[in-house]
Amino acid sequence: MAMSLIADLERLLGSDRVRHHPLDLAVFAKDAGVVSGHVIAAVLPDTTQEVAAVVRLANQYDTPIVPRGAGTGLAGGAVPVRPGLLVVLTRLASIGEVDTVGRSVWVGPGVVNLDLSRKMKPYGLHFAPDPSSQQACTIGGNVGTNAGGPHCLADGTTVAHIYAAELVTPTGEVVIVGGDAPDTPGLDLRAVVVGSEGTLGIVTRVLVRLMQDPPDVATLLIGFPSVESAATTVSDVIASGLIPAALEMMDKRMVEAVENFVHAGYPLDAEAVLLAEVTGTPASVRSDTQRISAIAQDNRAIDVRVAVDIDERELLWKGRKSAFGAVAQAAPDYYLHDTVVPRTRLVEVMERIYEIADRYGLTMMNVFHAGDGNLHPLVAFDAKEPGALGRVQAAAREMVLVSIEAGGSLSGEHGIGVEKRDLMPLVFSAADLDAQARIKEAFDPDGLMNPDKVLPKGSRCFDASGGPL
Ligand SMILES: Cc1cc2nc3c(=O)[nH]c(=O)nc-3n(C[C@H](O)[C@H](O)[C@H](O)COP(=O)(O)OP(=O)(O)OC[C@H]3O[C@@H](n4cnc5c(N)ncnc54)[C@H](O)[C@@H]3O)c2cc1C
Repeated sequence: MAMSLIADLERLLGSDRVRHHPLDLAVFAKDAGVVSGHVIAAVLPDTTQEVAAVVRLANQYDTPIVPRGAGTGLAGGAVPVRPGLLVVLTRLASIGEVDTVGRSVWVGPGVVNLDLSRKMKPYGLHFAPDPSSQQACTIGGNVGTNAGGPHCLADGTTVAHIYAAELVTPTGEVVIVGGDAPDTPGLDLRAVVVGSEGTLGIVTRVLVRLMQDPPDVATLLIGFPSVESAATTVSDVIASGLIPAALEMMDKRMVEAVENFVHAGYPLDAEAVLLAEVTGTPASVRSDTQRISAIAQDNRAIDVRVAVDIDERELLWKGRKSAFGAVAQAAPDYYLHDTVVPRTRLVEVMERIYEIADRYGLTMMNVFHAGDGNLHPLVAFDAKEPGALGRVQAAAREMVLVSIEAGGSLSGEHGIGVEKRDLMPLVFSAADLDAQARIKEAFDPDGLMNPDKVLPKGSRCFDASGGPL
């Protein structure tokens, strides 16, 4: 069956856009996480109509379909669990005419996140969500995972920046969810699709909201004598009523790795650093900078540095955005966690997470969107060492449990995918899971669109009258 499906796909797209050589399949079997899947073939359509035709063919062959952008996801979302067809959207990368008055533009899902903001620069506009992977990840992947980033603290995550999306449904129809009017009537299906991790359909065009570039910006790098004083500063800044554009934290081990890597002048004597950014008019930026500096000093900051020009600002951000690359100096592989905790519980949860890493003998560093309470403990390890991945995964589970016990959540931005699917009952009741499974069923009655993701087996457990199935 697989060979006849491949032959039909080749007739549709030509053989160069249907990849099934073992080397291609090995590359496409993983995303940036640790889970591997089983790919029958990876196809690279050029248009919405081709995506729809591919989906209809997969339906004829009763074959699972998995959408994929750049494959930088960390939860196995773009990895087929059962043998499946990977639909790679990177060639749908056009950028339409910019509506400078409405501040929006239709883009293909394959547009790379950073490229979009670069192309919008001449208009004085940008796309606000800026995941640390923004040099590679795509807008389609950002929609799939409802991606966040350092600058989502004030502006919100991807869902707040998508007006509409064109979707190829699991049965191959083309629909539009949302619209360019600020408030469309009826159920907000746009918000249901954003963050659905490719389980409800394939996004083939997106109407993105663009934000105006701020007239002035200041970036502060603040060193602290302890993680506690840095975390208290985060809570105090937000409690003061000030929402900075970004508020990122790194612990000492991460600062050392980053400083060795990019030499950005991060303070090596600090136990933790905060990278804060404020935007607005020159007067408001000056005043917000002074307020943050004062709060940091009240919390015993040992070093407050304000970038003097754009070069210094970019260097400080280069440090933050190169953090994951810097870790390669410590070990060849890494496992990046993603949980959220209430900001007021950051210190306590971090202490417990350090204790878990020590108990499992793991090298862990921390860099995270502290303003959002979004924790990213990063464990550096060597996957070739026998038993290493097992220890990393066991520690990861404990870290997730600690975050949930503190009133947090399973994922801040990387999604659930396969990685955290079976942990969903820790945060959702049977009725909650059933409601989500009904939505999935309404979009995808045959269960072919990215199956086995997000919802654990048995989620659909009540009949229409509310009784158990
Ligand atoms: C070093 C590093 C740093 C990262 N930092 C961040 C961060 O700061 N914030 C953050 O949120 N994430 C971060 N990530 C995770 C990842 O980059 C994001 O989740 C990103 O949005 C994924 O985009 P992608 O194009 O690589 O998508 P993929 O990995 O290809 O896919 C991700 C999910 O979206 C679905 N999908 C992809 N395209 C479509 C489409 N067109 N239609 C429907 N579904 C689709 C897939 O099925 C999958 O479930 C990081 C990852 C790495 C490796």
